[in-house]
Amino acid sequence: MTLSVLDIFKIGIGPSSSHTMGPMNAARRFVLDLVDKGQLARTTQVGVQLYGSLALTGRGHCTDRAVLLGLEGHAPEGLDPAIVEPTLERIRASSRLRLAGTKEIAFDEPMDLLWHRDQTLPGHSNGMRFTALDAARTVLCREEYYSIGGGFVARADELDTPAAAAAAIQVPFPFESAGELLDKARASGLDLHELVLANEAAYRQPAATRAALLNIWAIMQACIERGFHAQGLLPGVLKLRRRAPKLYRQLTETGSASPMAAMDWVNAFALAVNEENAAGGRIVTAPTNGAAGIVPAVMSYYRRFEPGGSDEGVLRFLLVGGAIGMLYKKNASISGAEMGCQGEVGVACSMAAGGIVAALNGTNEQIENAAEIGMEHNLGLTCDPIAGLVQIPCIERNAMGAVKAINAARLAMRGDGTHKVTLDQVIATMRQTGEDMSAIYKETSQGGLAVNVPEC
Ligand code: SF4
Repeated sequence: MTLSVLDIFKIGIGPSSSHTMGPMNAARRFVLDLVDKGQLARTTQVGVQLYGSLALTGRGHCTDRAVLLGLEGHAPEGLDPAIVEPTLERIRASSRLRLAGTKEIAFDEPMDLLWHRDQTLPGHSNGMRFTALDAARTVLCREEYYSIGGGFVARADELDTPAAAAAAIQVPFPFESAGELLDKARASGLDLHELVLANEAAYRQPAATRAALLNIWAIMQACIERGFHAQGLLPGVLKLRRRAPKLYRQLTETGSASPMAAMDWVNAFALAVNEENAAGGRIVTAPTNGAAGIVPAVMSYYRRFEPGGSDEGVLRFLLVGGAIGMLYKKNASISGAEMGCQGEVGVACSMAAGGIVAALNGTNEQIENAAEIGMEHNLGLTCDPIAGLVQIPCIERNAMGAVKAINAARLAMRGDGTHKVTLDQVIATMRQTGEDMSAIYKETSQGGLAVNVPEC
């Protein structure tokens, strides 16, 4: 499977990459297929069925809203968060929607969008079925899609075969494991970020990669700024008050002479991103929405507190962090519905740990060591969001993951890169642990905090 760092860092909206962005992408793909097949004009009804984890936690994760927007042709990366509410109000008040933005049909949401909480499609816990019918109720098209983590979507027939476009890209240094990545870097004499940049050249010119990654960084910073200045409660039954604005005010107005002030800032950066995510704001998957605060918090720490922090360091961070995310995507999963939270916050922590070592000009071996430590101490982390909202434990967990990533990097940089457990071994362990984990801890809100803490 060939991936780009821009597959790992994707621009979208909150609150969930698997339950919001994935379903929006799937719904959009379905209607664009209708357009391509010349069936849009004949379509008078669309039915959507949600299964498994999507049905169990989809309301809290805004899956229904995402599907409606996707059917209207919206994509997460281009969607202006400001138009979301008016669009949904129009659809729901009129019981009509505009397929692909052009073909208006009746849409009776309680009948046309069904939640199958007791059923799972065979390919993945996050399954969806879309059906288009004509006026005689003849089925024009029916497809099953799966949201497989990080906003990635696969049609049922694509689950085991990489998409043709991805398979067609030939990169100079293909790698399937961390061991192979290190071997190729050693043989070529390249630092990891140089090797990844060379691979990215198969997708676009190096200058375009740099510009895209700096844009990713700009969107992350804008998200933190919005999170620092927003007010009020987060959406949903928990009625959680945002904490980042108060922490930001405390840090800027009163300052802190504490030797732990940097940690307060890391917490503030991460809370700001994940509160924005919970509120449906503009976000970068890193590698998912639920875990989107860790990489920006650690990069912000790097820029604010590490002497010599620079945009060049940010680029090294994103190139290497993206490559580490690819290793998890290729060899395990970045889906909370498959791996529990170790596949989201654990992976983000590993990416950020390796990324900051690259930013600080650590060796390739120290990077691999940091990424391994970042995951080793997240193994077994469950996903049990209260009320199916990406809020508790998710928001605070990003702050914890960011601090852990920085410590993993510091531990690795005090050594020479030699260590006992390899990154490949810890990725394999994460996959096996995720496979063994009970389904109640995999984004179903049927266990853990979700059943032990009252919703309101
Ligand atoms: S607990 Fe972790 S995996 Fe589950 S929704 Fe929250 S951030 Fe995502």
